[in-house]
Amino acid sequence: MHMMEFMTRYDFEKLSIATLASHSSLQIFHGAKMEGFRTIAIVVEDRLWFYEQFKHLIDYFVVLDSWRELCRKDVVKELQSFNAIIVPHGSYVEYVGLECAENIEVPIFGLRKLFKVEADQWAKMNLLQRAGIPIPKIYRISDKVDRLVIVKLPGAKGGKGYFLAKSSEEVVEGLRERMVEGLIKSFEEAMIQEYLIGVTAYFHYFYSPILNRVEILGADIRYETNVDGLRRLSQDIVKELGIIPTFIVVGNLPLVLRESLLIKILDYGVKFVEETKRSVPPGVIGPFCLESVINDKMDIKVFEFSGRIVAGTNLYIDGSPYSYLYWSEPMSTGRRIAREIKLAIQRNLIEKILT
Ligand code: AMP
Repeated sequence: MHMMEFMTRYDFEKLSIATLASHSSLQIFHGAKMEGFRTIAIVVEDRLWFYEQFKHLIDYFVVLDSWRELCRKDVVKELQSFNAIIVPHGSYVEYVGLECAENIEVPIFGLRKLFKVEADQWAKMNLLQRAGIPIPKIYRISDKVDRLVIVKLPGAKGGKGYFLAKSSEEVVEGLRERMVEGLIKSFEEAMIQEYLIGVTAYFHYFYSPILNRVEILGADIRYETNVDGLRRLSQDIVKELGIIPTFIVVGNLPLVLRESLLIKILDYGVKFVEETKRSVPPGVIGPFCLESVINDKMDIKVFEFSGRIVAGTNLYIDGSPYSYLYWSEPMSTGRRIAREIKLAIQRNLIEKILT
């Protein structure tokens, strides 16, 4: 892989692991420390006090007034002076903006070219389809909606503004309301997907370019308000009160899957890696997540992916039932990232995991 100019000045024996203090950063810092790395928290002023409670996990704070300052020249220089590698998590692009996220002159653990794909809901679903992974039916705004659909707004805002609709008219009506609220600028920004009936399941993977294998590191269920609370009420009351389901994530619940499902799940992970190698070379590096619904025929459809560490991995700071099978020691996704960096250094293959 081509090393960018700024990377040639790095001392890879003295690396630091840096990330934005948010999302899964404590797990990332903890994992980095377990593997013996120096850590840097990039933090906004008003959160500093909180992260200072975890000083034993954080060696250095880069304090900003706002996340958008990350690409300021002096901040980048400071990170370079620490031989820092940025570990991008689920909030990274959302916080610093795509332009900075993609172009920052600090090595990224992961595939930076994937950020742009992830920012485009259609490109994302295309990638899954090309990988040969089953996905829900997708509608354009001009298509006739003939079943229950979920309408999704752009950006990783935890399901904010999503709604269900049963017809094209309901889709248009819902989108109009969201435009008035300023959540979207045009109807085309929204993605309309067949609403999948079944249970939601989110699979955490790790692709190791060093060991050349895909590992299943865990699985979770997102706990979403109010849709997950509605089952506590009778359907009659929900209908009578006209309660509308919403999909705002409030947390994550652990999930262990039927072992027979793991075969298909790993197959999807491998397919995903192979497709990213073809269409976004050199392909995904490290953690990624496929978000799915499993129906009563055990069919698994994937409605979304993340090319980075997801917050659901925070469940397994001490390792998961799956990560234990590979490593026989507590191995969180955060620690797995640090382990991959360590393995790459030992084998003189650092260029395989950085972009
Ligand atoms: P997302 O932003 O794509 O992660 O979606 C947020 C939440 O909406 C998910 O965690 C699911 O609960 C729900 N959801 C999204 N897409 C679908 C779908 N096609 N069918 C059923 N539920 C979905």
